[in-house]
Amino acid sequence: TAEDEVRFRSVLDDVAAYKPGKPPERTDGRPSFKLSSNENPYPPLPGVLAAATEAAGNMNRYPDMGALPLLEALSERFDVPVTDLAIGTGSVAVLYHLLQAACGEGDEVVYAWRSFEAYPIAVQLTGATSVQVPLTEDARHDLKAMEAAITDRTKVVMVCTPNNPTGPVVHRDELVAFLDAVPRNVLVVLDEAYREFVRDTETPDCTEMYRDRPNVVVLRTFSKAYGLAGFRIGYAIGHAPVIAAIRKCALPFGVSEIAQAAAVASLRAEKELLDRVEALVVERTRVVGELRAAGWDVPETHANFVWMPLGDETLAFAEAVQAEGVSVRPFPGEGARVTIGEREANDLFLTIACAWRQ
Ligand code: PMP
Repeated sequence: TAEDEVRFRSVLDDVAAYKPGKPPERTDGRPSFKLSSNENPYPPLPGVLAAATEAAGNMNRYPDMGALPLLEALSERFDVPVTDLAIGTGSVAVLYHLLQAACGEGDEVVYAWRSFEAYPIAVQLTGATSVQVPLTEDARHDLKAMEAAITDRTKVVMVCTPNNPTGPVVHRDELVAFLDAVPRNVLVVLDEAYREFVRDTETPDCTEMYRDRPNVVVLRTFSKAYGLAGFRIGYAIGHAPVIAAIRKCALPFGVSEIAQAAAVASLRAEKELLDRVEALVVERTRVVGELRAAGWDVPETHANFVWMPLGDETLAFAEAVQAEGVSVRPFPGEGARVTIGEREANDLFLTIACAWRQ
């Protein structure tokens, strides 16, 4: 009977579990490539691997929750005080903690849609309500419409730049106008998970935007440009009261010593890692150019992925590329997001995608 069953909070009835990208399925021995999770295709740098391996020797101890060596390295990197920095098991965890700290039942959270799949889940889990503002025709944030969507109940606004899964960025002028218009008691989350891949000069570095705005918090991650997705480590840059609220909601000892050591080593090896990012940006330009030449109407992208607007053909396309050994991320009825991978992966994907248009 119902009395014998564990009952969960009613908000969970509508929460869809987060679905990670599928690894490619291939049994014929030919190479296969995972282009479904915006991962970095490069293997770890030897120095980063060595730092992580050394830290693994302490696995019988809890990690350093203060994470001071990493916070100090980030503090130097961004010229911010350590009190303005919080880390978490991926920037998605930092976002969960922040939303948990900021909102609950009766509150609203405004963000663009389509955007990162974790946003609606994270908002629902707090009991707050998502207010999704449609992207423009060319897949950009409509900041004017987002501004108009703010009500007395709005607690948080999230801006994803570059936007996952479509790729465009928010420009400096429009962002400044937007931030000036948002009430100061509304927290603005600027999610820059892909910032290192941006080459557009009109795109602000949001870590500058937070400085004179106590209600602005920036999310960054080591998962993408720095290639540490598997270690789960991301961070927030915001004013001390925001950071203190995140820390109160954080899981005790959430970020491992291994992840912290790898992140510190990655900041030391940043030049080499950013050279790899540059190579991915060159590949991105090539992929977008070839797709457009083949007739694909792909939006401009400033991240390590490209959005294929496929509408009703989305699932058929995803299955066709999967059959050739490439997994992509389908959003049924809308389109597919394809990560920029190693050259060989991109070549295989381009062959399939260009043939699809013929
Ligand atoms: N924000 C955006 C926009 C993302 O696309 C992702 C990863 N897919 C994240 C945050 C979270 O990344 P992580 O938790 O690995 O830091």
